[in-house]
Amino acid sequence: MYCRNCGNEINENAEICPSCGVKPLAEKNFCQNCGVETKTNQEICVKCGVKLQNTSNILTSSKSKIAAGILGILLGSLGIHKFYLGYTVPGIIMLLVSIIGGIITLGIAAGVMGTIGLIEGIIYLTKTDEDFYEIYVKNKKTWF
Ligand SMILES: [Zn+2]
Ligand SMILES: [Zn+2]
Repeated sequence: MYCRNCGNEINENAEICPSCGVKPLAEKNFCQNCGVETKTNQEICVKCGVKLQNTSNILTSSKSKIAAGILGILLGSLGIHKFYLGYTVPGIIMLLVSIIGGIITLGIAAGVMGTIGLIEGIIYLTKTDEDFYEIYVKNKKTWF
């Protein structure tokens, strides 16, 4: 692939471009597939036809990892972090288990759901922004 900042050819898995020191997909100057010059607002490369990739697009369009993590830690038993990530059904399950199950089990079920939320919140916070986007926003992994 090519660095989208300086246009040099770089290793496919390079996190940082060795020529310019910038994340290869952080800028919008060159096509990552063929290395031709691109304009900032271009979506598709006019030379090779691939969709131009950009990490800043991903991060601004994605849900906040920090917000999801903190919601999981503080309000995990109510499934608020799942609603936040758009996982409605798992969110409702956590909410109902906590409230109805919590009444029946004198709070034990709510404690269990709270622990799950806490663990999930911590898992979210340990992911990189890119991983968080891949796993929870794009692939919608609903539990852990
Ligand atoms: Zn570069
Ligand atoms: Zn191209």
